[in-house]
Amino acid sequence: MDSEIYSKYEIIDAHAHIFPEKIAENATVNIGHFYDLPMESCGMSKQLIQSGEKIGVKNYLVCSTATTPHQISSINEFIARECRQTPNFYGLGTTHPDSENIEADIQQIKSLGLHGVKLHPDFQNFDADSPKAFEIYEVLQGDMPLLIHCGDRRYDRSAPHKIAEIHKNFPRLKLHSAHFGGYQRWSEAEECLAGLENVVFDISSSMAFLTDDYLRHLISKYGAENCFFGSDFPMWSHEEELRKLLGLGLTERENRLILSEGFKNFYGLE
Ligand SMILES: [Zn+2]
Repeated sequence: MDSEIYSKYEIIDAHAHIFPEKIAENATVNIGHFYDLPMESCGMSKQLIQSGEKIGVKNYLVCSTATTPHQISSINEFIARECRQTPNFYGLGTTHPDSENIEADIQQIKSLGLHGVKLHPDFQNFDADSPKAFEIYEVLQGDMPLLIHCGDRRYDRSAPHKIAEIHKNFPRLKLHSAHFGGYQRWSEAEECLAGLENVVFDISSSMAFLTDDYLRHLISKYGAENCFFGSDFPMWSHEEELRKLLGLGLTERENRLILSEGFKNFYGLE
């Protein structure tokens, strides 16, 4: 892409996964199978940067999910290590509803200097509105933001109505709902989630499936300030995602909000 097109924008990738080198290839293959989608890259930090550099990404929200409780601590340490090595990474930690000590996990995440928690109900095998998951939200509310995967037409674990249930029970929780609030369930998502205070969205893993008209509709319904650009790395190419976003013909102000300003405001970045 012509650098003149994007260089006027500050760009933050609000949703990227990274994996330790040893497992990056396998993890990427497994995600590809799970979603039946081709992966753009292998999920290592250096590849994330290589892909993001093509459009001048300034910061990356990076995360990795513990599929079992015994992985929690080592994944949090891994994310913190990557953030130390790459200062433009903004790391979220992980916990699990089956963890023996959720408060201790959140404490670890804070002491490592991470900024919030990422959960993926489908990979972690829990219902987003289950009592066990509520224990996590209880600890996070008023403290740290939560990025949660939302939606999948095959499963109900992270369905938009369950995300709305989280907000109903924890209205002060800062809730970053991935994929416009419901991957493959976009119309349900807008019905359940539009207009809720403290609920924001990223637009990752959505643009390839939706028409330009519907994307413009979603962004205007949620508000551009609540919709964050993201690659869902290693799923999509930064360049292609940016091309699609800028192709929507939104105003410059809307593009600025989506590409970085909304994210900085929500996560409290300078
Ligand atoms: Zn994710």
